[in-house]
Amino acid sequence: MKLLLAEDDNMIGEGLEKALKQSGYSVDWVQDGLDAEHAIQSAEYNLIILDLGLPNKDGLEILRTLRKNHNETSVLILTARDDISDRVSGLDIGADDYMVKPFALEELEARIRLLLRRKSGKKTNEVK
Ligand code: CA
Repeated sequence: MKLLLAEDDNMIGEGLEKALKQSGYSVDWVQDGLDAEHAIQSAEYNLIILDLGLPNKDGLEILRTLRKNHNETSVLILTARDDISDRVSGLDIGADDYMVKPFALEELEARIRLLLRRKSGKKTNEVK
């Protein structure tokens, strides 16, 4: 399973990358919105973990572009914003789930597993 982690916070990003790799995922970690978009265009991911507050391109913009391009990759939003409107717009635009920082790693991993299961159960014409 290949995950894209878009998170500009060094501590969270490093911790997550390490933990997810230990759990057996292959992880690409980017810290910039434009890098995230580039990664999405150049590789196929099973899940994208997307921070909303990213430099150069906002997470919501990235998500909007993704769905506009009919990319149905599961997206889990990671946000420090406790503003409920951001989470609502994230879900409206097409996020599959979200977590508000600070979060428990165990819960994040459980949600990742759920999203990946849900996705693999769906019939798609995607070439994996
Ligand atoms: Ca951030």
